[in-house]
Amino acid sequence: MTTKEYIEEAEQHLIHTYNRYQIVLEKGEGVYLYDVDGKKYLDFAAGIAVFALGYGNKEYNDALKAQVDKLLHTSNLYYNVPAVEAAKKITKQSGMDRVFFTNSGTEAIEGAIKLARKYAYIKDNSTDHEIIAMNHSFHGRSIGALSVTGNSKYQEAFKPLMGGVKFADFNNLESIKAQITEKTCAIIMEPVQGEGGLYPAKKEFLEGVRDLCDKKGILLIFDEVQCGMGRTGSMFAWQQYGVKPDIMAMAKALGCGVPVGAFAAKEEVAKALVPGDHGTTYGGNPFACAAVNEVFRQFEEKNIVGHVKVVGEYLHKALKGLEKKYDIVKEARGIGLMQGLELTIPAGDIILKALDKGLILITAGQNIIRFVPPLVITEANVDEMVAILDNILAEIKVSI
Ligand SMILES: *Cc1c(COP(=O)(O)O)cnc(C)c1O
Repeated sequence: MTTKEYIEEAEQHLIHTYNRYQIVLEKGEGVYLYDVDGKKYLDFAAGIAVFALGYGNKEYNDALKAQVDKLLHTSNLYYNVPAVEAAKKITKQSGMDRVFFTNSGTEAIEGAIKLARKYAYIKDNSTDHEIIAMNHSFHGRSIGALSVTGNSKYQEAFKPLMGGVKFADFNNLESIKAQITEKTCAIIMEPVQGEGGLYPAKKEFLEGVRDLCDKKGILLIFDEVQCGMGRTGSMFAWQQYGVKPDIMAMAKALGCGVPVGAFAAKEEVAKALVPGDHGTTYGGNPFACAAVNEVFRQFEEKNIVGHVKVVGEYLHKALKGLEKKYDIVKEARGIGLMQGLELTIPAGDIILKALDKGLILITAGQNIIRFVPPLVITEANVDEMVAILDNILAEIKVSI
């Protein structure tokens, strides 16, 4: 079949929830992807901040294959070895005490919300607790996660949503204070807003929120689904702020392509959930956890986090260069390998031009190009990307 035929068939059979780019991807190698026509693309999206270790990673593939031959699934009625190891690794890396495995980031957020509510319920026996979430946040598409996602465009048609959610402005402590009541049980936020436009939290803000939570007995939930797993130059983004949450959610790069997420919590909070409170059939299955274990193993072996610090800084400087050079580039911002380029014009056209030139980029909102490459990307790869982007920006400058 040709690309056109694949796409026609896809559009006949899939529910049309995405305006997909008109390419059909087939295989990957390192930081490059290939479509069914054999065209090569430099990948600066990593399947939306997922594939951290590079494609065709032999040790990762072998670890998965070995687990396939052993055992794929057990359910959570029994223990399995990879899940125990993965839970140990996550608690060690995150400083959290207990983990619950999910199948996605959205489900990790659902679990985090349920845990926060149950913890509050045990404390005061009431059932009208409130959660404060941030404007321009993104936490997922299920009704619970959507309810704390500060984007009315995603929410409107699906109302009524979960009750008891209030919104405040990110990086604005006063705005959070104004939403706190005696019913507030949790505050949820991404330490670096991804979808919402690549906005890193300010250190004083996170410190202020932590302090507020401590004083008022409110739980702090960090959504590290996108900014976690080394992406910002520390294993989890909050670690470089020195502001520890009570509950955190992770997913995306946790399994590097195998669907797996988790929420983790401090002991005192985690013990609020007891048998019967929460569950999942697939979550934490041996296959998914074998992926998690291999991901952490390679992170350590290759010092991925240290690498991100260096290359992330290099990428940021290069993007700052484009900011200086072009009027249509409003701002380059981000941390580590989670960077954005805010433009004065919609980014969609640039993404299409980049695809044409063999570069995969994605957006975050209308006007922002998002750079979330595989974490093994090199400075030479950054140069290659910037050369293509520079070219496109120059063409646009001439045409306007
Ligand atoms: C992607 C994302 C989610 C949702 O994760 P899924 O795996 O798509 O369910 C939640 N929070 C953040 C910050 C994300 O980037």
